[in-house]
Amino acid sequence: MTALVGQSTAQLEGLLAAFGQPAYRARQVAAWIYRRRVHTFEDMTDLPAALRRDLASRFVIRTLVPEQSVTAPDEAAKYTFRLSDGNHIESVYLPYEDRVSACVSTQVGCPAGCAFCATGRLGLARNLTAGEIVEQYMALQDAYPNRRISHVVFMGMGEPLLNVDATLAAVRLLNKEVQLSARNLTISTVGIVPGILRLAEEGLPVNLALSIHAPDDSLRSQIVPMARKWRLGEILQAAARFRERTGRDATYEYVLLDGVNDAPSHATALARLLDGLRGSVNVIPYNSIEGLGDFRTPSRRRIEAFKRVLREAGCTVTERARRGEGAKAACGQLAGGSETRRPGRRRTAHRV
Ligand code: SAH
Ligand code: SF4
Repeated sequence: MTALVGQSTAQLEGLLAAFGQPAYRARQVAAWIYRRRVHTFEDMTDLPAALRRDLASRFVIRTLVPEQSVTAPDEAAKYTFRLSDGNHIESVYLPYEDRVSACVSTQVGCPAGCAFCATGRLGLARNLTAGEIVEQYMALQDAYPNRRISHVVFMGMGEPLLNVDATLAAVRLLNKEVQLSARNLTISTVGIVPGILRLAEEGLPVNLALSIHAPDDSLRSQIVPMARKWRLGEILQAAARFRERTGRDATYEYVLLDGVNDAPSHATALARLLDGLRGSVNVIPYNSIEGLGDFRTPSRRRIEAFKRVLREAGCTVTERARRGEGAKAACGQLAGGSETRRPGRRRTAHRV
């Protein structure tokens, strides 16, 4: 059965027209499903009872089933959802003092295979639909009704720009139907050039985060297989196009891997690569992944030294706050619940 979350108001108009319903009914349904977040047609109290029954026989509102949540000591929480086909995905609730973010997945697994990422190890099972992406936001907001989730980062499982149609549709739904500001939406990409150009052409003023991770293509291709397909130069050019069209600077993400890409000389080379570009560098100390042998998190001293070299070269540098540790919810640790569902590992988890 078709799920209504995932349909724009215009699409709902089409669906309801088949029942002989006028356009304003679609606007009512959109308000119920996206803004009041009802779960049943019965709750849509301004629709005629007969229409509610018709809709209930033809459509479902949502499809995701929350299966488990794990809350870390820092109050970030990882949710595992079962999809209608039995696959699992994960999303993260990230409360900060001044805002709350939802980190959402765009694919079941990821085909990009970055060496340091738990999701990459899974490979790709399938793309998510726009509805499945938006539902993650809605389910997290349901779970935490007391604080408005104002920001969405597309940084969960998957590569958003390898599922660009659904990602763009989800961005539009979050913007137009859920009514989040486009400026509060961040798409993070490993550097899929056609996808970045598509984002530029759409002209949506979202934030674009580029996962760079190395100052040159030769080191980059050792840890990011996609680097063999799209070179840093092309990626930065596509980001420049995005800036022309949207007025938004990209940010550059850089996972720090001890002894691999975290030497002062790498920082100097990175500053040279980004010279003249205005976006800031967001360093992300590696979060360890069980069974992913070779990488280590750099020492605090090395992280600070890396940041200092960048700053001295004129870059704006931020460090991503480590959130969700203890819940396997930190960047790169999302593996579709494959580890949390193992028996005997439910210590801090509870069913939802
Ligand atoms: N596929 C997209 C978005 C999801 S990954 C991308 O790669 O950008 C989100 C961020 O988490 C990326 O910057 C990614 O490089 C980072 N990440 C992946 N594994 C990590 C790990 N083990 N430790 C720290 N950050 C990691
Ligand atoms: Fe995919 Fe991003 Fe993980 Fe790379 S870092 S494997 S692109 S999810």
